[in-house]
Amino acid sequence: MINIILPDGSSRQFEKGSTPMDVALSISEGLARNVLAAKINGQVRDLNTPMEEDSSLQLLTWNDTDGKSTFWHSSAHLMAEALESLYPGVKFWVGPPVENGFYYDIDTNGQVISHEDFKRIEDKMLELARQKNDFVRTPMPKAEAIRYYEEKGDEYKIDLLQNLEDGQITFYKQGNFTDLCRGPHIPNTGIIKAAKIMNVAGAYFKGDQNNKVLTRIYGITFPKQKELEEYLTILEEAKKRDHRKLGQELDLFTFSDKVGKGLPLWLPKGAMLRERLENFLRKAQIRSGYLPVVTPHIGSKLLYETSGHWEKYGADSFQPIRTPEEGEEFMLKPMNCPHHCEIFKSRPRSYRELPLRLAEFGTVYRYEQSGELHGLTRVRGFTQDDAHIFCSTDQVEDEFKKVIDLVLYVFKSLGFEDYSAQVSLRSLEDRSKYIGANEDWEKAEAAIQRAAQEKGLKTVIEYGEAAFYGPKLDFMVKDALGRKWQLGTIQVDYQLPNRFSLEYIGADNQKHRPVMIHRAPFGSLERFIAILIENTAGNFPLWLSPEQIAVLPISEKYEDYANDVFLALQEQDIRGYVDHRAEKIGRKIRDAEVSKVPIMIIIGEKEQEENKVSVRKKGEGDLGSFTIEEFVKYAQQEINKNIPKFGNN
Ligand SMILES: [Zn+2]
Ligand SMILES: [Zn+2]
Repeated sequence: MINIILPDGSSRQFEKGSTPMDVALSISEGLARNVLAAKINGQVRDLNTPMEEDSSLQLLTWNDTDGKSTFWHSSAHLMAEALESLYPGVKFWVGPPVENGFYYDIDTNGQVISHEDFKRIEDKMLELARQKNDFVRTPMPKAEAIRYYEEKGDEYKIDLLQNLEDGQITFYKQGNFTDLCRGPHIPNTGIIKAAKIMNVAGAYFKGDQNNKVLTRIYGITFPKQKELEEYLTILEEAKKRDHRKLGQELDLFTFSDKVGKGLPLWLPKGAMLRERLENFLRKAQIRSGYLPVVTPHIGSKLLYETSGHWEKYGADSFQPIRTPEEGEEFMLKPMNCPHHCEIFKSRPRSYRELPLRLAEFGTVYRYEQSGELHGLTRVRGFTQDDAHIFCSTDQVEDEFKKVIDLVLYVFKSLGFEDYSAQVSLRSLEDRSKYIGANEDWEKAEAAIQRAAQEKGLKTVIEYGEAAFYGPKLDFMVKDALGRKWQLGTIQVDYQLPNRFSLEYIGADNQKHRPVMIHRAPFGSLERFIAILIENTAGNFPLWLSPEQIAVLPISEKYEDYANDVFLALQEQDIRGYVDHRAEKIGRKIRDAEVSKVPIMIIIGEKEQEENKVSVRKKGEGDLGSFTIEEFVKYAQQEINKNIPKFGNN
């Protein structure tokens, strides 16, 4: 008999050689129907893999990232089978899963595959899926595998085989299609119920532009037709909400190739939005005991040699900046932590100062390949709402709880209601790669889990996902379209305090090493704003709107009064603009609507005579007339309505 340890920590006995499917069947038939693959001792494997010794086992379904990837990778095989039957002579390179679906790079043997062919391919895939063919794994000696593809005249697979060692080569066959693949796969094609070909593009063989261009076909599949329909609806809506499109329409930010790829330029309205967000968090941080610091955008290369960043990321980052002085080198800062460590070190520290929480909206620069850049979500320069907490091991749990409070406050204030958290811990098996004392790790891992539980977070625990320097807690939010984003993060770090020899004098008068916690509730302002734009479709809560009100005089006769009204509002910190253009009022209203201004004030003869304003609110229509005082009171109420008080949650 062998012991199988399930993710909840429970252990059950099975006969030696039992498979994950046996375990699934022993739990429930429903699970056995839905399970796609299994993680055995941290490795994703086929469901019919025999387990010969005590193992940890996680059964993967559509709800697990690895389950989905296996489903989509298996679907790439199904698409290849369909293509082979529709386009004789096609040859295949590789077919991996991607974030949403999968692709396969193929040599079409001179045949053209275009959008008009998609339906035909989809139909063929579903026809083959209905045959419920098993994915059958067969190990094969290298020589035999090469012979197989030589006979087929397939130079692509032969190329793949060159890099594989004898003894680790496997083939998978489903229906009439055989592919060189290390797996794993779902049990059979029948689980695939819906298929959509999404796109076709050219891709160089092995990504090398000196090579032949292959045809890359993207597809996506689902275990239910309904899920495909939902996905397509979301995709349509996502196009409308794309932050790159809305960012331009709303005048928030722009990019210039002359300034440099991936370096956003914030326009006045975008800058105001940022400022609002920063001030909002700054206020909450002051109440949580954070101290502001400011550090430069560059740092000596020596700083990053000490921190270890140079060794780890140096080759793939912006290269050092030189000065006229011999041997003097600086780096654009990729993170703020090393600077903050030096602030901690700037004078002797006592335990009485801990936890010391240093906060900075720190702009950092990280090199990303130009092909990887994407709007504000993948950039080369961005501002983190960063802070580092220096504390003792005993303080970790309490600090974690406080950071969780802060993160949840941010989410609540910005309307992210659907969030979950991932606790990343050490691998259960191999613990050699983690630095720091085992005892400290155990304490911190337990502290994070207790903190998350006490704060009522929906958590997923991922073993083996901790950084080598410490465990962490990441927050995922679902946006209005159900898409998952990783935002805030809280990480424990045992490494940097070591590397920088940080110390404080304890109550026992002895020197101690502090623990460091990195945390950023937004993650980065750029990414956060991108997600905020897509989540709200540009309809920001009133307190964040770059323009809260538009004052619209019906004609130039009322300009002076309109200006007076606007000044009175500005004095109360209500932002917006007066539309002075010689346009008809209808046009002014429409333009304000397009710019998503939440409140409009219309001023004509009657308003001027009575010393009043007429108010229109987006989504509510005409609200009638107000005196200026009444309106200020109303606007302030509306602005504050959506910001919960920090500390009350
Ligand atoms: Zn495969
Ligand atoms: Zn940090």
